[in-house]
Amino acid sequence: MSDTTYSSLQVLQQAIVSCRLCPRLVAWRESVPAKPANKDAPHWRRPVPGFGDPSAHLFITGLAPSAQGGNRTGRIFTGDKSADFLFSVLYKAGFANQPRSVAKDDGLCLKGCYLTACVKCVPPQNKPTHQECVSCSQYWKAELSLLPHVSSILVLGKFAFDAVISYAKEKKAYIGGRPSFSHGAIYKMIGFPTIYASYHPSPQNTNTGRLTEKMLLDILMLT
Ligand code: SF4
Repeated sequence: MSDTTYSSLQVLQQAIVSCRLCPRLVAWRESVPAKPANKDAPHWRRPVPGFGDPSAHLFITGLAPSAQGGNRTGRIFTGDKSADFLFSVLYKAGFANQPRSVAKDDGLCLKGCYLTACVKCVPPQNKPTHQECVSCSQYWKAELSLLPHVSSILVLGKFAFDAVISYAKEKKAYIGGRPSFSHGAIYKMIGFPTIYASYHPSPQNTNTGRLTEKMLLDILMLT
């Protein structure tokens, strides 16, 4: 994959955190209200790049940072309920050195995987517009292209699934109609990492049992 114009992940991450391409999302990330419990805590309020192992074989992507998670802490899947669930499972699968992701300086280290989101700024109601998705897709695609050992992509939720399938189509690796999202689906292609689909680890899914730790762990063990 050669979409990148960035010389390294560090250069790319700097470009991401300085980005102001989407006026609606810039306004929202800078003004989204803090929860009462976090009202006195510093808030990042900037784009949130991915992070992880530069030698990763597994690329994990969700939708976007959450208001009280990534937009507050400055690291994706950090400091909210989705992070608690995801890291409990990543730790059990051996991809993380600890089961918690609470702050940038919490000592977390990913092994064999890189974690990111398809849109780098928190969107109102978790719904980016089509144009915002298109504008931001340059960044996750560049992250992917700077990780030369990636052989698997785990998509968390339908939004990420659609974005990654579209990219596989763009690359002419996925041929055929647009598949519908289904948890546990696997797409093997030539010239593109294998795509694994999972429900998003949001409280909406994990509190209701729609996604259990075992369901996610089973997928991670296949990657
Ligand atoms: S969503 Fe992406 S493209 Fe839009 S301002 Fe944020 S970082 Fe930039």
